Amino acid sequence: MVTNTKIWLSSPHMSGKELDYVKDAFDTNWIAPLGPNVEGFQQDINEYLGENKFVAALSSGTAAIHLSLILLGVKVGDYVICQSNTFSATANPIKYLGAHPVFVDSERETWNICPILLEDAIKNSIKKGIKPKAIIAVHLYGMPYNVAALKKLSQLYSIPIIEDSAESFGSHYKNKKCGTFGDLAILSFNGNKIITTSGGGALVCNSEKDRDKAVFLATQARDNTPEYTHSHIGYNYRMSNVLAGIGRGQMTVLDDRVRQRRQNYEYYYNKLSHISGLEFLSEPENTFSNRWLSCVLLPSLSIREKIRNLLHSKNIESRPLWKPMHMQPIFQKEVAFVNGVSEDLFNRGLCLPSGSDLTENELNRVISEIKYYFSAE
Ligand SMILES: *Cc1c(COP(=O)(O)O)cnc(C)c1O
Repeated sequence: MVTNTKIWLSSPHMSGKELDYVKDAFDTNWIAPLGPNVEGFQQDINEYLGENKFVAALSSGTAAIHLSLILLGVKVGDYVICQSNTFSATANPIKYLGAHPVFVDSERETWNICPILLEDAIKNSIKKGIKPKAIIAVHLYGMPYNVAALKKLSQLYSIPIIEDSAESFGSHYKNKKCGTFGDLAILSFNGNKIITTSGGGALVCNSEKDRDKAVFLATQARDNTPEYTHSHIGYNYRMSNVLAGIGRGQMTVLDDRVRQRRQNYEYYYNKLSHISGLEFLSEPENTFSNRWLSCVLLPSLSIREKIRNLLHSKNIESRPLWKPMHMQPIFQKEVAFVNGVSEDLFNRGLCLPSGSDLTENELNRVISEIKYYFSAE
């Protein structure tokens, strides 16, 4: 019987064109972390974003956040404001640099950083004489944060924004693509993201100077001399030309992947939203989410766990929403501005299988288990 095959949360989904680019890398012996696929992939990303940016393909999204913080001059002892409701990779690079995160909770409308609480955090820090060096804001699960409000605060207090667009490639806000709003922006091509290079990321810069500096740091900070001279600490953060080939193949289907993931969300919404106590996150005006993951809020933590375990017993992978950073043991001592929203989302939220390759039959399996739970209750 094949009825109980595993349904994954978010699987890689190849287009078929990736192997041509990978083969090209082998045929031309460009196996290094530079070459025509890297150049081509950067150009594809830039054209897709459509705002004349400067893109550096890197080994991961985490590396891109680390380099962003360095480009913004973050040093030991500095403070960096960070959305609490996110995956730990958003916050970890702050600690790599010996700086301190200041976590800020979410708003209900987008589940992302709350502009009101953000302003409190900024004012409070300035009053203590420790003006934050940067704000890291995240478009979680593909839903754009409140770009207008954040931009206003960033300008008012002259604090640059690092836009964590790891989960939102293909999303937009007022018809501009996510990944174009920050002073610096990052993308991720990890295996579970909407498109993947197996592992990889990109840094999106507003100036060629920033991009070149990022590439320099990512290439072991080799000064421009015939012998290897170093006047900076460097990193090994460049993307392999082989993996960039996968990325080029994936770029040809990004819009299809967005369509497919949005269709998953619509399908769940149409079949489940009538159940009372079950909530979905709808798009605020002017926003378009890639619906990287379809998430639902359940009436309570215990019901969330019962449904997650029920799905697990049927070989269906689901996952609680991200555990907020201010609730993580490793970040317990950091300053946090909390309003209870992300904790509530974490307690009641469940990410449902959301891969772009899910079949209708698979979606129906998920839906019928959830319906079964509520009918048997
Ligand atoms: C995946 C992810 C990252 C990190 O990207 P990697 O490429 O896995 O290093 C950063 N932030 C968020 C919100 C993510 O989901």
